[in-house]
Amino acid sequence: MSFDQLKNLLASADGIFREKEPLAPYTSLKIGGRALFYIKPSRWDSLPAILSFLDLNSLPFKVLGRGTNLLVSDGDLGFGVIHILRMDGKVSVEDCTVEADADVLLGECCRESFQNSLTGLETLEMVPGSIGGAAVMNAGAYGRSIFNFIREVTVLDHEGKERRLFPGDLAIGYRHTDLGDFGVVRKVRMWLKKGVRHDIDIKAKEFVRKRKESQPWNARTAGSVFKNPEGAFAGKILEDLGFKGKARGGASFSGTHANFLINSGTASFEDAYGLTEEARSKARDKGFNLEYEMEVWK
Ligand SMILES: Cc1cc2nc3c(=O)[nH]c(=O)nc-3n(C[C@H](O)[C@H](O)[C@H](O)COP(=O)(O)OP(=O)(O)OC[C@H]3O[C@@H](n4cnc5c(N)ncnc54)[C@H](O)[C@@H]3O)c2cc1C
Repeated sequence: MSFDQLKNLLASADGIFREKEPLAPYTSLKIGGRALFYIKPSRWDSLPAILSFLDLNSLPFKVLGRGTNLLVSDGDLGFGVIHILRMDGKVSVEDCTVEADADVLLGECCRESFQNSLTGLETLEMVPGSIGGAAVMNAGAYGRSIFNFIREVTVLDHEGKERRLFPGDLAIGYRHTDLGDFGVVRKVRMWLKKGVRHDIDIKAKEFVRKRKESQPWNARTAGSVFKNPEGAFAGKILEDLGFKGKARGGASFSGTHANFLINSGTASFEDAYGLTEEARSKARDKGFNLEYEMEVWK
């Protein structure tokens, strides 16, 4: 298989193409082996041709956003990635509508909405991903999820064609959607409410304070490892099972919040996944089915 056509296509659009690219640097956990290929477009208008090339050549790939919800296996991976982050996308506000290209950070959408006195996204300000990743994961915090606000999503399908989707077209759940099955998220449209700028800023600051108090900040982590089972808290279950602060090799459950996995800097996939699987197995013995919230790419 020759990648020449793809390389030329990306080179002409200021994009990057690399073979056997390590993914660890692109993830917040800093764990992950070599992708079959790594594509970093710099412009949205180059995506349709890239997608149809991958489709025509049956090349398997995954979409990487900011990599803040991923645990990626070590070694040579059987798929490539398209990195959708900080391209030429933008966020714009008109009345109560916020429209953002998927490569924009969720934090930028929050700030833009606050500046326009729009209320809704205050609890999400410090969720550190792209708006595309947030939509796919139905990211949320403190009782609110991004799909409380999303009214429409545009995706690029496997042939690179645009398709508009509405919440009713999707399976949307707690930290889950089937959006990724439709293709690459291109654009998200949210509908917020008018508020008072001063109150919005105070509310957002309060949620940031709460988060910094209860979660390991600035650590190599992918946020919550497991979803909260119905009527229970994953962090409490892990704590009760003695996993708070527990380590395996370079990986450990945080001493600040038991549901956060931390890489000390030397963790392998085996350290991290071995530890989380051990925790799942112990929880199962106690009658809890812990489902992963972070995505495991193997
Ligand atoms: C310190 C910390 C705190 C966190 N706190 C929270 C929290 O409070 N609430 C919460 O919900 N999450 C939290 N997270 C997890 C994470 O930030 C969110 O899930 C975030 O929305 C993921 O976005 P991302 O761009 O990093 O996606 P990635 O991790 O890159 O990818 C996640 C999924 O989205 C897909 N994807 C990404 N972009 C696209 C696209 N354009 N098109 C199609 N598929 C795409 C990927 O293929 C993958 O399936 C936290 C993470 C960290 C590190």
